[in-house]
Amino acid sequence: MKITAMLVPQMLTKIDQVIADNAEQVTALDQEIGDGDHVYNLQRGLEALNKVSNELAEMDWSSAWQKIGMTLMSTVGGASGSLYGSFFVTMSKSARDKEMSFSTFVQAYADGVDSIKKRGKADVGEKTMLDVLVPVQLALQQFSDADELSSVLQEVNKVAAEGVEATRNMLATKGRASFLGDRTIGHIDAGAKTAQLMISAIASVLGEA
Ligand code: ADP
Ligand code: MG
Repeated sequence: MKITAMLVPQMLTKIDQVIADNAEQVTALDQEIGDGDHVYNLQRGLEALNKVSNELAEMDWSSAWQKIGMTLMSTVGGASGSLYGSFFVTMSKSARDKEMSFSTFVQAYADGVDSIKKRGKADVGEKTMLDVLVPVQLALQQFSDADELSSVLQEVNKVAAEGVEATRNMLATKGRASFLGDRTIGHIDAGAKTAQLMISAIASVLGEA
């Protein structure tokens, strides 16, 4: 089966649903060590994307990622807006004029994650969304075009959940949480949690398709 951007509206619906279902829990996390607006920020971005989801569905992946990234940059406040914005714009550049395949996607994803590292001057182990996004990247890179999608999705879901849990005992050294120093230890990072929720929503749509 060819995975096209026709799935984007379904992915957005599923992401909306999991973010709404977990909004209270994530906001509580973000209130512990952040300023409590992370879910609101994401929901603003999702609302803007839903307005253009029919357009996105007609695009090739590179064009869709470009539009998603630009939309997020212009509508989402907070660190997460510019980080996810640059993630998608970079994915778009990476995949431009290439035949879409699993390996093209994995390269684009890896380039997108690198752009988050650069923009946020952060890396894995600093109690951010990268503690989910990077393990997912490493998991994806173990697979190839020939592998079963279901095994890929299963592994991705597993490492994403482990990544969230790993942030609990990390010291935050980037973003707002870093102002709290040692007090961040013992709390899960909200941005890592929403990254995992969004990835699992996308995986479930791909699993059903
Ligand atoms: P803000 O921190 O500006 O209020 P959000 O609340 O929307 O923005 O997002 C906070 C999340 O963004 C954090 O939980 C963390 O996962 C992520 N984050 C913050 N700073 C960075 C950074 N420098 N690099 C990567 N991720 C970051
Ligand atoms: Mg915030």
